[in-house]
Amino acid sequence: MIQRKKTKQISVGKVKIGGNAPISVQSMTNTDTRNIDETLNQISNLEQVGCEIVRLAVPDDEAAEAFKIIRNKTDIPLIADIHFDYKLAIKSIEYGADCIRINPGNIGGNEKVDKVLECAKSHGCPVRIGVNSGSLEKDLLKKYGVTAQALVESAMRNIRYFESKKFTNFKLSLKASNVPLTIETYKLISEKTDYPLHIGVTEAGTIFSGTIKSSVGIGAILSLGIGDTLRVSLTGDPVEEVKVGFQILKSLGLRQRGVEIISCPTCGRTEINLIKLAEKVEDGLKHINTHITVAVMGCAVNGPGEAREADYGIAGGRGLGIIFKKGQVLKKVSENDLLNEFLDILKKDNID
Ligand code: SF4
Repeated sequence: MIQRKKTKQISVGKVKIGGNAPISVQSMTNTDTRNIDETLNQISNLEQVGCEIVRLAVPDDEAAEAFKIIRNKTDIPLIADIHFDYKLAIKSIEYGADCIRINPGNIGGNEKVDKVLECAKSHGCPVRIGVNSGSLEKDLLKKYGVTAQALVESAMRNIRYFESKKFTNFKLSLKASNVPLTIETYKLISEKTDYPLHIGVTEAGTIFSGTIKSSVGIGAILSLGIGDTLRVSLTGDPVEEVKVGFQILKSLGLRQRGVEIISCPTCGRTEINLIKLAEKVEDGLKHINTHITVAVMGCAVNGPGEAREADYGIAGGRGLGIIFKKGQVLKKVSENDLLNEFLDILKKDNID
């Protein structure tokens, strides 16, 4: 069991972050925020796979006005992502953002940061301080180079500044695209502060390489008990980010949600097109929110035994399929009916 480090708690809309709250999974839309219909559609797709918080880029006034409309058409907590223009941060807060993400270093000086903080305070809106290896202060770069010390010192400066303004309703992210650097940075910041941490590996890459990089990086940080909310950054459909995020949490036993598929790697005994079947099962069960484990095995000889730990399982071969529950055979069916019969059984067991 991973012992999570207890942090302070903040609320992003209805989602609690830090303290004993479950580690939440968030994502960011990659539609043009000004395209309201497309953005709402993507938000709805993200919600369907369990996304708990959505971040939207607000790069100009038009996007801020669109943000206001989008805010009124969805219940999911929304974070406005702001760079450079403090007025957009203020507008977004006034338009109902549940949190804003800023890099205080690029918002145009302390006076402007102060105005944002005043507005956030009066609306009870939390702030995510986003420190990034690509936008470190010059003096820190000179002193440390792009290192964990530089990222942590940059974050600590922001923390001290926010605290001096009596603003403590914030979480932190310190991101780099380099996995060892990201892990070291979160280890170091976690020793220095109790504010909730948003974790992730930034610009991780395409769906294949980014999933691996994020799983290694985020997984390593989580296994140290660090992290209160996460985003997997992928160059692709953000829906995949959410799926990967939950999979990482499920793999570490930190969240239990939906179906966990256990499928055998196949071997010379495989008597069925298991790859296709496993994909079909995963797709056919994606609507299920109850946490169950489902084994999909490639032969009827070893399948049930190998998957004894699973709640349910199916195994097949030579035109026949077997459905089992906790290792006990429930039913033998024809291979073609395997998936539908299995879905019927789950329905009868009230698994939804
Ligand atoms: Fe091979 Fe059967 Fe084990 Fe799959 S379940 S790896 S097919 S022995």
